Amino acid sequence: MCEWGGEWSAVETLVIVDFEATCCDEASFPREEMEIIEIGAVALGEQATAEDEFQSFVRPVRNPVLTEFCRELTSIRQEDVDAAPGFAQALQEFSAWLAKHASPIFCSWGDYDRKQLRKDCDFHGVPFPFDDNHRNIKKEFSQVVKSKKRFGVGQAMKRAELSPQGTAHRAIDDARNIARIYGWMMEERRGGANI
Ligand code: AMP
Ligand code: MG
Ligand code: MG
Repeated sequence: MCEWGGEWSAVETLVIVDFEATCCDEASFPREEMEIIEIGAVALGEQATAEDEFQSFVRPVRNPVLTEFCRELTSIRQEDVDAAPGFAQALQEFSAWLAKHASPIFCSWGDYDRKQLRKDCDFHGVPFPFDDNHRNIKKEFSQVVKSKKRFGVGQAMKRAELSPQGTAHRAIDDARNIARIYGWMMEERRGGANI
């Protein structure tokens, strides 16, 4: 829950979002068929600290049986998605969670998550839960460290001397780690000594 206190009001809430999706290591699995199977989100409060979280698995409909590759990459089990709500219901729950926060701004590592969410919303005829603003934290990270290179989450954590927590390619853990990277970026922008 986001506790803003009585004295001041937030104008916007940065929400770090990460999705896992159905996938395969073979070209026979078209990218257009990828569907979200986990939503992970962290709402940032003052000082870029994690204030609130949302996590849900999502049951895919196009390829309801996860490939071995996908299970191994994400560590998401078949029973996790079998027991999960469908996209429309999961999105309704996510939207209700977002509504608790002042002007949520969609933030993610790269552009993939924004495109995937748009695709799944269109496919299921569900309203997109954010306005048109999107912050690409991956791009911002490169600007903060003054590099032309595009860093993966793991590479960025190494660069920021942060130790990754949880399981890579699990949406909620990725979102938490990206939130920690964002906190480090804020320190850097303030002229912190973490170089
Ligand atoms: P990530 O947030 O990096 O865990 O990636 C989001 C989604 O992209 C994953 O759930 C997969 O569907 C897909 N993905 C990520 N890495 C790979 C990979 N090496 N090969 C195939 N698909 C991948
Ligand atoms: Mg990701
Ligand atoms: Mg992820």
